[in-house]
Amino acid sequence: MRGSIPTPGPGTVRYGGNTTCIEIRSGSDIVILDAGTGLRCLGQALLTEFKKTPLNLTLLISHTHWDHIQGLPFFAPIYEPRCRLRILGGRGARKSLVNALTGQMESTYFPVPFAELPSNIEIEELKDLNFAVGNLLVRAQRANHPGVCAGYRLFAPDGLICFFPDTEPRPGGEDREMLDFIRDADVLILDSQYDRAEYRRHTGWGHGCVDDSVALALKAGVKKLVLFHHDPGHDDKKIDTLVKHARALVKKKKGKLSVEAACEGRLIRLGGT
Ligand SMILES: [Zn+2]
Ligand SMILES: [Zn+2]
Repeated sequence: MRGSIPTPGPGTVRYGGNTTCIEIRSGSDIVILDAGTGLRCLGQALLTEFKKTPLNLTLLISHTHWDHIQGLPFFAPIYEPRCRLRILGGRGARKSLVNALTGQMESTYFPVPFAELPSNIEIEELKDLNFAVGNLLVRAQRANHPGVCAGYRLFAPDGLICFFPDTEPRPGGEDREMLDFIRDADVLILDSQYDRAEYRRHTGWGHGCVDDSVALALKAGVKKLVLFHHDPGHDDKKIDTLVKHARALVKKKKGKLSVEAACEGRLIRLGGT
């Protein structure tokens, strides 16, 4: 949920300091969104839960900026022969997805080469923007972010989840293509890194302003907006302020949208199951 770089410390204890990693469960399907440093904690939790049972996991990568891939070498299941991991994503900005992911495990950066991992890992570049993962129907769309960056729409039997960890929503949420893509989502996880004043100084950097995120979510009829990609310089108090501001905007528009900020370990249930 943290953007750009991990930010541990007393000021970020409540929302968390790890970079992007989300787990989605639907029936027996487990889909992971992005491989930021939060992936290390998820790996530990999966091994504890599943013990000796084979793990069959799918990892969708939005893009290959550090804060979305750095957790992969520290994901304990990849050191287990009983783990099968399918990784899907677009091309790295200048390299193939395979090179971008495995390059960070070359000896300059990391002691264990990718080729020596005992697990079964497949890395595939997305050819088709519509595909299925178990009982989830997934669609990818290009995000408004430097390089090659995707957002995902995951249609599960219990609801619709949209994930745009890094994107710069258009001012006022005026973006027909985006609105159609996220329409009526139960949960929208959306880059909302800056407040209005910060955004003025960072316009064009590929990250969102809370005001525009709220406008977009309201226009699209989203039920829950999860503010995401917290600025490394924002402590818990600042994030509280952003949430309060976002809720006030919804109230002003007499909207029904619920807003919260992404928080490490937070569980959201869809469809009451
Ligand atoms: Zn990022
Ligand atoms: Zn990025």
